[in-house]
This record gives sequence, structure tokens and C-alpha cells, in this order.
Amino acid sequence: MSATLSPAPRPDAPAPRPGALAIDIYVPGKSKAPAGVPLRKLSSNETPFGPSPKAVEAFRAAAADLEIYPDGGARALREAIARAHGLDPARIVCGAGSDELLSLLAHAYVGPGDEGLFTEHGFLVYRIAILAAGGTPVVAPETNLTADVDAILARVTDRTRIVYLANPNNPTGTYLPFDEVKRLQAGLPRDALLVLDAAYAEYVRANDYAAGIELVSSCENVVMTRTFSKVFGLASLRIGWLYGPAGVVDALNRIRGPFNVSGPAIAAGAAAIADRAHIDRAVAHNARWLAELTEGIQALGLTVTPSVANFLLIHFPDEPGRRAADADAFLTQRGLILRAVGAYGLPNALRLSIGSEDANRAVLAALGEFAKDRQLG
Ligand SMILES: *Cc1c(COP(=O)(O)O)cnc(C)c1O
Repeated sequence: MSATLSPAPRPDAPAPRPGALAIDIYVPGKSKAPAGVPLRKLSSNETPFGPSPKAVEAFRAAAADLEIYPDGGARALREAIARAHGLDPARIVCGAGSDELLSLLAHAYVGPGDEGLFTEHGFLVYRIAILAAGGTPVVAPETNLTADVDAILARVTDRTRIVYLANPNNPTGTYLPFDEVKRLQAGLPRDALLVLDAAYAEYVRANDYAAGIELVSSCENVVMTRTFSKVFGLASLRIGWLYGPAGVVDALNRIRGPFNVSGPAIAAGAAAIADRAHIDRAVAHNARWLAELTEGIQALGLTVTPSVANFLLIHFPDEPGRRAADADAFLTQRGLILRAVGAYGLPNALRLSIGSEDANRAVLAALGEFAKDRQLG
């Protein structure tokens, strides 16, 4: 889907609810290289390892039953997730990507006149979800490209119904230590729902980090969302899940589509989460290259925001010929596709997903050329 201007509303035609036309259409990372140049897509935080072969096998086997409706409760998938994390499967809801769950939460808890909070460089889906539900988005400033608990709490009003926190955040790669997340929860009113979006949790190695399972277990107003799109390599299948208090799970099960996760997705997801070795390999590769690329790119004279996820935010000088847009054009010419993040309030940065060893080396070499030509560093 490409971004288009919305047509002027006609007085004689059905009008969408207020807020819908205030949404800027989400523009995904680019995925095209110039003709004849091999494409290296490093713009959507996908894994260079692909999915577990066991997940692919389960997906293929599911092709035998495509005329049959899937299990609307996605029981096999919830049980596999519960086993992997030691959770109660009754408190898990699966969705068509975690994006669906993030938006179902807004639909369940936010209405016209209500406010939904998120942070300055937070994931774009939160604004879309709040506006689509008829609510008012409220943005809390960040400090050093990191969520700031005091700034969030300062923007809470008696109309705040939901607070979204990506931890770690996309596109900055920064995170809040678990102590800070607990302080955030403790400062929120009991009727405001805290959504911990832990899409990159598997990649985080910091020992003061936690995805939030413990907080969900002990609080009535916290949910955690997770995805199979990143380290599990199943982005195309659209599988996310949520762990929450019984009341939230009940509300979501009432409003979600009755068959919102497909049969092949249920089968492949259950197989993927059981293949621990596959995930461990991807995480080890990521840890190595996160460090090597951070150091390598900094050595070129560019600023890199320290990341705990599977991507890096690279900042460029605000000078003609040296800006993020110049680097983006330079890299695209060479088939290296990064993510422009102007829509996230970061017009002079690019987000680089950690790729295969070959792709990582190619990016480092190309950025080196860019820096040398422009005498950076
Ligand atoms: C990629 C991502 C997701 C996952 O989206 P899916 O719909 O599960 O593919 C959620 N939150 C953040 C912050 C992300 O970057």
C-alpha cells in the first residue's frame, strides 16, 4: 500500500469516525534496489536467519487443511507459548501480529474524549491505534532518545486510559530498566492500562531488563505484547501474542475477530517457539554484530545510539551532502536499504537492521566510503 492524500470528505457520503482521517498512513521500510544491484533489505528489523526449519515444515503441513477454519482460540499456539515462558495459557491472547493486539487494546479501552499516551520517538502504531479508536494521542518527551518516566507521568490526566511503552523502543533501540518500568506502573492511576510492547525482548542481554511478565502477574493494569515477526522470522505470517490480567484477556476475546490467527500461523508459531537452538543462534549473531557495527560506524565519525535490539540508529551531520537523506541515496545505489525515520521525528538519522555477516560488512564498507568522500570523522 502506498501513502496517498485522503480525498476531501464529501458532505453527501458516509464519513469515517472523527480521528480516522487524522491518521498518517503507515509507510513500511523500503524493499527495492536499483535494477541490476543485489538487494540487501535492512529496513524492517527482519532476521537474517529466517524462521526455524521446523516452523516451515509445520506451515507446509498445514497446507493440507486450508478449507478448514482454524481453532478460534489458537489453543496449540497459546499452549506452546505458555510452555516456553511458564505462563497460564488462559491469560494469553494471540493476534494477527502484535499490531492487531495493540490496536484491539485501544478499541477496548479508549473512546472519544479519552487520552492515550506514548513517547516522543515511540512506535508509530500507537498513534494510529489511539486515533482509530477515537481517542486523543498525547506525546511525552524523551531524554537522550529514551523514554522518561517522569515526563510520561507528568502527562497523565484523569482522561488517560492507555499508556504504550515500547521496551526496547523502535526506532531508537534504547530501553528502560525494569526498575523504571515498575516506577512507571506505580505512578499510573489504576484505571489506566500500561502496555509493555516487548517486540525485541528476545534480543536484549542487559541484566537490568525484563519484558514485563512479572509485572503483568502482579498488577491488574499491565499487559505485555510479543511478536513472532522479529527473532522468530515469521513476519509474513502475522503472529503476535499478549499476556494480560484475566479482565483484559476477556475484553479482547470478546472484540477480536473469532478466527484472527490462521491455521498455518498457529502451527508454524507453535513449532518456532519450541526451537530454542534456532533462536539462540540468531541472538548470538545479533549480539556480536550489534557491537561490531556500533564500534565500526562510530569509528567513521558518525553517532550511533547504543541499542539493545536488532537494529541501530545512525545519526548524520546536519550539513549539505552529509545528511541522512544523502547517505540513504548513497546506500540505496549500492542495494543497501536502510529505514528513513523522519516520521519518527528523526529526520537526520537512519535505522539499520542487523543483517547477515555479508550484508553487515557491505554496509560498513559503504558507510566508510560515504564518510571518506565527505571527510567525516
Ligand atoms: C516490529 C514491531 C512490532 C511487531 O509488529 P507485528 O505486528 O507483530 O509484526 C511491535 N512493536 C514494535 C515496537 C515493533 O518494532
